[in-house]
Amino acid sequence: LSRRARREADAAPSTAPATIRARVDGARAAFARGASRSLVFRRAQLHGLRALLRSHHAELEEAVAADLGKSATEFRLTEIFPVMSEIDEALRQLERWSRPRRAAVPLTFQPARARLVPEPLGTVLVISPWNYPMQLLLAPLVGVIAAGNTAVIKPSEVTPTVSGALARLLPRYLDAQAYPVVEGGVEETTALLEERFDHIVYTGNGSVGRIVMAAAAKHLTPVTLELGGKCPVWVDDAAHLEEVARQLAWAKFVNAGQTCVAPDHVLTTPDLVEPLVAALRRAIAAQWGQDPSRSPDFGRIVAPRHLDRLAGYIEAADETGAGRVALGGTVDREDLYVAPTVLVMDEPDSPGAARTEENTPAVMREEIFGPILPIVPVGGPDEAIAFVDAGEKPLALYLFAASRQVADAFVERTSSGGVVEGACLIHVATATLPFGGVGESGIGAYHGRFSYERFSHQKPVLRKPLVPDTLALMRPPFSQLRGTLM
Ligand code: NAD
Repeated sequence: LSRRARREADAAPSTAPATIRARVDGARAAFARGASRSLVFRRAQLHGLRALLRSHHAELEEAVAADLGKSATEFRLTEIFPVMSEIDEALRQLERWSRPRRAAVPLTFQPARARLVPEPLGTVLVISPWNYPMQLLLAPLVGVIAAGNTAVIKPSEVTPTVSGALARLLPRYLDAQAYPVVEGGVEETTALLEERFDHIVYTGNGSVGRIVMAAAAKHLTPVTLELGGKCPVWVDDAAHLEEVARQLAWAKFVNAGQTCVAPDHVLTTPDLVEPLVAALRRAIAAQWGQDPSRSPDFGRIVAPRHLDRLAGYIEAADETGAGRVALGGTVDREDLYVAPTVLVMDEPDSPGAARTEENTPAVMREEIFGPILPIVPVGGPDEAIAFVDAGEKPLALYLFAASRQVADAFVERTSSGGVVEGACLIHVATATLPFGGVGESGIGAYHGRFSYERFSHQKPVLRKPLVPDTLALMRPPFSQLRGTLM
């Protein structure tokens, strides 16, 4: 059976409506009785999650390989390692994060003491996508648990093997009532979204992000939306094109390009286009060999419908003359394989203009989310900045600039979820930094301490002795105050 046929035959995972209701009620009841609040409980859950990843490593690796063709090493690097480091950081810091913090009290209200007391929000709904089906489910969950919440966990139905494995394993390692799993797609998620939660963390595309936010508004539920977009790259470091190409090739083609922070397209000057294509050719061959379809380290496209969309970008480049295929371009529909592909686009007439169907091909309007890298020649950094600013605010911006001034100009004059200079993707694995988008790329950031704060309420508690009564002046009659206030 071909990979395509197998994926088409996969049964859609689903949890029955009555069970969904019961699981949400259970998670809420567990929170209401205070089950998830103690640090001892939180630690036990985090240790449970770690034990799950250790004990079922092989099974999970196979599930991710079945759904995404991900190699064992890539699985370790991108699914296990980031979750383990979130768990370790939370276990190390939990005590410190949970300690109330002193806050200053102005003289007017002295004597008094104030502190910020972190408290859990309640029951959190975690909805995750298919592209890193374990990491993007479990990394937010670590923060949710650390902050003392209960949660309902909804894996993506697009990766059904991983969804099934996690639905089976999580209840064995976590408190099953406090952290139930609900499986399914649109129907089941719609049912979940009718329920009342205290926070919703959603990772996925912006159209569904809007659905989630609208549903949350009905209950006044706060949301964290981790969305996507087109992450641009600026390259002008002519002296280091080999190094740049090695970084770009890895970041773009890991997980077959299905990464929210993958470089989407490259902006560079016309003179560097051909040298960069040549360097990318060498970088691709060095990482995945002459024929990446035979490399055990090159992933596959998650589902036929996504493959068809990607094939459409390549065909359009060939047919319409809006750009050309410079590298790769091969598609094997049965194997759900798209070769690492580089397109060289035409120079935009007006880089700062809004991109419409008339003036821009689909590959430069939509988030690519596959192993296709367009290179767009522009006049220089100012044009590139105008180009970035004319699009929606991206999740990440990558800079390979020869001069500090140019890099700083991008940082100052563009807006994005984050910026990395001299590398790609690594900010996501830096637990000391908040990870999230801005504008169209998302709302709210998490990871490490930022997760803990995102999923807690920092409650100010002000304590003032009743005697002496220093507030007398604030009460009427105001005869003593008259004339003393501005
Ligand atoms: P997806 O299709 O798995 O959908 C995400 C979740 O939304 C799933 O759990 C799915 O069941 C649910 N869903 C789908 N349609 C729904 C509907 N109509 N109503 C309610 N729920 C629904 O994943 P996707 O959206 O294709 O994921 C890819 C996108 O996610 C890309 O845009 C990517 O950039 C973005 N992404 C962002 C991050 C980040 O951390 N910011 C990480 C990964 C992916």
